[in-house]
Formats: sequence, C-alpha cells, structure tokens
Amino acid sequence: MEKMLKIQGVGADELAKTYGTPLYIYDQNAIESKMRTFHDHFQSELFETEVLYASKAFCIKEMVRLAKQHDLGLDVVSGGELFTALSAGFDPSRIYFHGNNKSFQEIEEALQAGVGTFIVDNVMEGAYLCEKANLHPDQLHVMIRVNPGVEAHTHEYIVTAHDDSKFGISIHEEETLVELIQQFQSTPSIVFDGFHAHIGSQIFEPQAFETEVEVLAQFIYELQKRYGIETKCFDVGGGFAVHYTDADAPIPIPQVCETIIAACEKQKNKYQLPLQKVMIEPGRSIVAEAGTTLYTIGFQKKTPHRNYLFVDGGMSDNIRPALYQAAYDCDVANRMDETKTIPTCVAGKCCESGDVLIDEILLPASQAGDLLAVYTTGAYGFSMSNHYNRLCRPAVVFVKDGTARCVVKRETYADLLRGECEEG
Ligand SMILES: *Cc1c(COP(=O)(O)O)cnc(C)c1O
Repeated sequence: MEKMLKIQGVGADELAKTYGTPLYIYDQNAIESKMRTFHDHFQSELFETEVLYASKAFCIKEMVRLAKQHDLGLDVVSGGELFTALSAGFDPSRIYFHGNNKSFQEIEEALQAGVGTFIVDNVMEGAYLCEKANLHPDQLHVMIRVNPGVEAHTHEYIVTAHDDSKFGISIHEEETLVELIQQFQSTPSIVFDGFHAHIGSQIFEPQAFETEVEVLAQFIYELQKRYGIETKCFDVGGGFAVHYTDADAPIPIPQVCETIIAACEKQKNKYQLPLQKVMIEPGRSIVAEAGTTLYTIGFQKKTPHRNYLFVDGGMSDNIRPALYQAAYDCDVANRMDETKTIPTCVAGKCCESGDVLIDEILLPASQAGDLLAVYTTGAYGFSMSNHYNRLCRPAVVFVKDGTARCVVKRETYADLLRGECEEG
C-alpha cells in the first residue's frame, strides 16, 4: 500500500499544501457517478420519474450546476438555498420548495422566481398560498407533505398511527387534508399535484420504503374513492443510507431505485391509481461518500483511559458527532502503510468537551504536522458548519479526473468581522 492517501489521484499532502487545512475535499467523479446512477435507475414505463437533489445536504452553486448537468430536479428549504440555486442558473420550474415555516418573504421570493412546486407543510401555509397565488401570473403547483406514520432510522422502522412531528400533516387527519385539498382545487391559480413524504434518514431497510409506498397508496386510494380526489404525483422523499464506517452496509443505489419503482408500480396497478409521476429526493446518498475532510494533527495527550489526538478543526466543520453521535472512519493520510495499533480519540479544537470527531479508532503512531483524513464527510458537514470559537470555515476543493480546483475559498479573519456594524 502506498504511504500517501490519494483522492481521485491527487495526494493528500499536495492538497494540504496547496489549500491548507482543515479542508473539505470532494471527489467530483464520485458525485457525478451517484447522480448518474440515481438518474439512470429511477425509471419506469408506467409513469414519469424525477430525482430531486435535496440541496440542504451540501448547497453551493457548483453542486447546483452538477445537479443541472445531470438532469436532476432540486429541493430547497429556504430563501438562501433558493437564491443559491437561482444564482447557479437552475431552472426554477424544476425547483421544489420545502419547509415547515417558509417566511412570507421566502414565499414571495419563490413566487417571483417562478418556483415550480411548493411542498405545503401545514394548513396555515396552504391557506396563505391560496391567497397569494392569485396575485401571480403563473400557475402554482402544490404538493402536501404528509406523515404516513412510517418512521425509519438506520436499522429499524416503525409504523405508528399518531404523529406529533413538526413536519407535515398526518394521513390520519383525513378531514384536515380533504379540506386543504378542496381549498387548493377551488383556487384557479393552484394545481394540486399530490403528496410528499420523507420517513427518515440513513435508512438501511428497503422494506421501509416499500411500507411507505404501500401506506401512501392505500391512503391515496381511499381519498379517491371517498372524495374523488385524484393524486397525480407521489414524492417518496430521501433518507437513503451511506457508508460511514464498516458497520454500515447501505442498500446499493440501483436497488433503492428499483425497490421504490417496483413498489410504486405494484401499488399503481393494485389500486388502479392515476399516478403520472414519482419522485425521490436523495441528499446524503449523493454527496456524503464523495467528501473527505483533511485536518492537520496537532498536539496529542494521554489520560488514564484515553489517547487524545487533536486536529485543527472539529465541531465547527463537522457538528454531526456532537449533535447525534454520528460515527466516522479516518486514517493518518501520510501513513497509510503503517499498522494501526493505538486506540485513539480524535478530538477537535473547540471549547466543548463534546467536540470529539471519533470516539475511538485504531491509528498508527503519528506526530504533529501529520494529516488526518476523515471519510464520508460530504453531507451535512459544510452545510452545518459554523463559526464557533471564531474558527474560519475551511475551503472546499473538488477533484475531477486527477485535477483539483477550489470551489469555495477558505474564510479569513476579515470574513469573521464582515457584517459587524462599527460603533457610532
Ligand atoms: C433532508 C431531506 C431529504 C434528504 O435526506 P437525505 O437523508 O440527505 O437523503 C429529502 N427530503 C426531505 C423533505 C428532507 O427533509
């Protein structure tokens, strides 16, 4: 094995030297390959399909451009994400606007921009949209976010009848849903397309999606039979698992796609549903594995029970371990050929005891100035990054076919002060 870690053919030492650390490095070939795989496998002969990139996982203009190039639609959940998408020249008619509390201003911005579809999260939002939509020239497509009562996380999924989620409306609140849909149907400028559901994140069980589709299909059938409400579109959401550590065996993307397509085809036939289009919304599964964060190792210390290794970033560039004990794998990037014998706790430099990136992992002996590469940091790392302790956000580098280029500059101290008002 070579001594130096390479990412898409470029040495970690070279990347660190050129761009500094901490550094978010993305293998662009890997991102594009995931996009293609989703696009090519999520196809049916019975209905139209669309893969929407859930941009919150990693939302910068370059990602939006890649989504556009690969013929994906786009999910946004805020005015900022919408602005990013529009700035990158994304076709607004292929943007889906999510969120449980879109502000009046965000709604106005989206209407002005001609955003294709609003995913309505609650009744108040729906009523507000009906009022506003009449003031705009274009027809506005809406879908309703529902909770099918299927909740999935990692290796488990449960089916419940009661739902107190902050997102969406429970399918068991039938009267509420019917009233809302009737309100949409009586608003000339609004087109009701159907339903959206998103059942969780980092889901490993294909059956969770089959169950979701089954429950939704039955619900749609009931609405049609009892109230004559026709559902044309059906958005199954995202949440497809990725490989963070060897404990994770995610469903291969082609299989995820085929499972969902097969389930939708089966239910469409079973209930004779007038389904015209099915969507999915992968976020993490498109970008997570393509990302690696490169740190410089600083001081190390031994305590009675631990060997601490400190890196020059931490919860400021990756808050997931502190937020929900997310697990990661890593290597000393310039000692790939050495045996891993030392149980190590990889901790960041932030002033929180919880600022631990990896609780315990075997690493080779290393010294200050060595490089540490944490894998699978492409999703929800940069997008959840922050300025805690006034750390500057790292640069983002994309490597494609052996060539690296900077897509987001490293922040400077001056960036930290930008926006502060001078006294007087
Ligand atoms: C977060 C989210 C996604 C993407 O989830 P991943 O786990 O990143 O695939 C898709 N749809 C909705 C509505 C979401 O909230």
